[in-house]
Amino acid sequence: MNSPKSPSCEGPIKHLAILGRGIAGLTAAYHLSKAGFKPVIFGRKQAGAQASRAAQGVLCNKGLIFFESPLFKAKLESLRSMPAFLDRIESESGQPIPRLFQGVNEPFWTEDDFQKTVSRIYRGKFWGAHRTQIQTPPKSTNNPLGYIHYPDDGWFDPRAFLDALEHILKREGILFIEEDVETFQTIDTKIEINKQSFDQIILATGAGSANLWPELDCKALRMFLIGGQTLECERQMVGDEAIQVKGNQSIAILKDKVIMGSTSWPGFESADIKADADQLRDAIQTNFGQTFTGGLSRSGTRMRFKDRMPLVGWLNTGKHAGKIYFLTGFYKNGMHLAEICAREMLCDITNKGDERSYPEFSALRFSV
Ligand SMILES: Cc1cc2nc3c(=O)[nH]c(=O)nc-3n(C[C@H](O)[C@H](O)[C@H](O)COP(=O)(O)OP(=O)(O)OC[C@H]3O[C@@H](n4cnc5c(N)ncnc54)[C@H](O)[C@@H]3O)c2cc1C
Repeated sequence: MNSPKSPSCEGPIKHLAILGRGIAGLTAAYHLSKAGFKPVIFGRKQAGAQASRAAQGVLCNKGLIFFESPLFKAKLESLRSMPAFLDRIESESGQPIPRLFQGVNEPFWTEDDFQKTVSRIYRGKFWGAHRTQIQTPPKSTNNPLGYIHYPDDGWFDPRAFLDALEHILKREGILFIEEDVETFQTIDTKIEINKQSFDQIILATGAGSANLWPELDCKALRMFLIGGQTLECERQMVGDEAIQVKGNQSIAILKDKVIMGSTSWPGFESADIKADADQLRDAIQTNFGQTFTGGLSRSGTRMRFKDRMPLVGWLNTGKHAGKIYFLTGFYKNGMHLAEICAREMLCDITNKGDERSYPEFSALRFSV
């Protein structure tokens, strides 16, 4: 009997496992499912270190574009592609995905502050200058002098987005296995997880990849883990909804709540998560002139490689070579880049690697 063929795949359709249920794994599953695959997804929904459910959901480059960097090109592309993708997922799932794409403001409080911000943005090769405008706020003692406005940037609710994706995938009959994978075996042309046989594995395990690295024979490829948290408070002040960024912080002022982010600490665990939250509230006070108490803390761990670019491609993984596809290393940019990278992955999996827009994200850049 002939093997079934995928509409967009040369050769027999591959039986795929996806490890990871964050934004990388779920957007990958969505695109694969649309292309005719039926991947099996492994991973726990409420896993401790998961970055995607801790994320703030702000999409903003703070005006910075290094035109020579594929990372920045992809982030800029995501400002155009994500709003349309969110519309599509909301309409297909029938589940609301709160979002606000009316631009992001970076406040400046003094003339000196303005000059520093502008010199950071307007680098010699900056080609995104058309994206910025200066806005003057109404006069009030608590207001900044003005804002630099990035008109394409915005915010969406990551948790609502992930829930909507899961809803679509389950309706399409995609199987979720609520467990972490500890090991896999390559047997001839197949790779096995708990006695289930697959052609390939898509590894979308974010910071959880650290536990699988020894299994993968790629210890030479260094990864860095950076924990962090966001805080969600009830909204008490009046005024319009707005997204603001400054320094390492941003604040999403929504109808009924305010989401503040994000902090960073080395490794999985914070030495003192309460002190870290206090520092975040202080930084928000300094950068945005807003005071908050309490707040719901969400923490997660980001993963990055040395060059801060995601890894989207096959890597030489010793005995598992050619069987494990990496979709990981999104660091602080997963909300921007996961969907674009899922499309890149689909090109490779369907043997159309030459159609990739960001081949720089592949493993060719590493010497392992
Ligand atoms: C506090 C914070 C705020 C952030 N804010 C933003 C933001 O505003 N904008 C932005 O663009 N990015 C933001 N980020 C970054 C963004 O969240 C990440 O880049 C993105 O979520 C990474 O997605 P991922 O799917 O690769 O990893 P994760 O979301 O970490 O998902 C990994 C998945 O793999 C699973 N897993 C791990 N090990 C195994 C295993 N052995 N077997 C099976 N499954 C496994 C986990 O359970 C999890 O489901 C933030 C991150 C943090 C921590």
